[in-house]
Amino acid sequence: MANIQSYDFNGKRALIRVDFNVPLNKENFEVTDDTRIRAAAPTIQHILKNGGSVVIMSHLGRPKNGFESRFSLENIADHVSKVVGVKVKFGGDCIGQEALEMSQSLQPGEVMMLDNVRFYEDETAGVESFAEQLSKHGDVYVNDAFGTAHRAHASTTVVAKFFPKDKMFGFLIEGEIESVNKVLNSNDKPLTAIVGGAKVSSKITIIERLLDTVDNLIVGGGMAYTFVKAQGGKVGNSLVEDDYLEVANTILAKAKSKGVNLYIPVDTIIADKFDDEANRKEVAINDIPEGWMGLDVGSKTNLECAQIIKNSKVILWNGPMGVFEMENFQAGTVSAANAIVEATKSGAFSLIGGGDSVAAINKFNLADQVSYVSTGGGAMLEFLEGKELPGIKAIRG
Ligand code: AMP
Repeated sequence: MANIQSYDFNGKRALIRVDFNVPLNKENFEVTDDTRIRAAAPTIQHILKNGGSVVIMSHLGRPKNGFESRFSLENIADHVSKVVGVKVKFGGDCIGQEALEMSQSLQPGEVMMLDNVRFYEDETAGVESFAEQLSKHGDVYVNDAFGTAHRAHASTTVVAKFFPKDKMFGFLIEGEIESVNKVLNSNDKPLTAIVGGAKVSSKITIIERLLDTVDNLIVGGGMAYTFVKAQGGKVGNSLVEDDYLEVANTILAKAKSKGVNLYIPVDTIIADKFDDEANRKEVAINDIPEGWMGLDVGSKTNLECAQIIKNSKVILWNGPMGVFEMENFQAGTVSAANAIVEATKSGAFSLIGGGDSVAAINKFNLADQVSYVSTGGGAMLEFLEGKELPGIKAIRG
């Protein structure tokens, strides 16, 4: 593999896979959140500055199989032009003669964008002949789509084989890899992971992996109640996965044998229905009355967690502490986010990795006060679980 920093792009056409799967409004198909476009801009600008031209490819939404105007990347071409600072030409399709003629006549400093690669089902099927057609658009392949790096699709993985040497990561993927390494291979201690969210079942692999690495593991969110019930507590109508009670106890035992401080919330905010307007009470987490459910952690838990977080040198946060989407049940998630911000100010490295904690940190406008916010939900989760992502392997291999 090559390195984007040292590669000579002079006179080369760079085919870049980005993740421009951005939300559009329903009325005019205008971009409503351009975080992903801004995240890929440094890679595009670097190539242009170094004498190359750029062919952008991405997916957008979930088209069936064939063109659908609401999923056309033409909708976002002007927005991309504004963010990158160069007029983006639109290729009309991602394969075929017309698009190829356009990409082959690109001049240094020029940018074009292909249409949605998922208009062809060969994309998600990872069909080699389709990947080969895509490969014709570039002399060099750059993967900067971390959000789809866990998919072995034609444009994210298979296409790399047509660039045996001239393939590399963009700055965004490099940053994601570096930030995970900073957490999982850090010598700085204490290392604290906060794993929340809805279910133990979706986080079990990451928890097991983290037990080998972390000093503190704070369990929050809906999955805490499975741990509490496993320990004989009364959890009322809280979210519980009865199939995972034994797993929860095994995790607790493993943590103990490895000397990991596994923190389970001690109190909780309960509600008499799953509703922001529900009646609320704060109780011990192992004494929730029937008919009530825990939707957030309580004030003692917040104090204790904040203390652990503020004493940490490295912090990983995946999953909210409660139902943060509702104003009345967001306090635990706000408290964890604030503690992470404070720890970061004192020199800790903090990675916010995985879908809903990213949504939370953005909701509280604190994203610029932590060390790194991942752009890949599922990809980050799999990466933290220790899986080798196909998109990353294809570049390295
Ligand atoms: P995940 O995608 O697994 O990280 O789960 C995130 C979701 O978990 C969010 O939508 C939260 O509202 C939800 N969640 C967090 N705490 C609870 C809880 N105590 N009960 C039910 N859902 C919860």
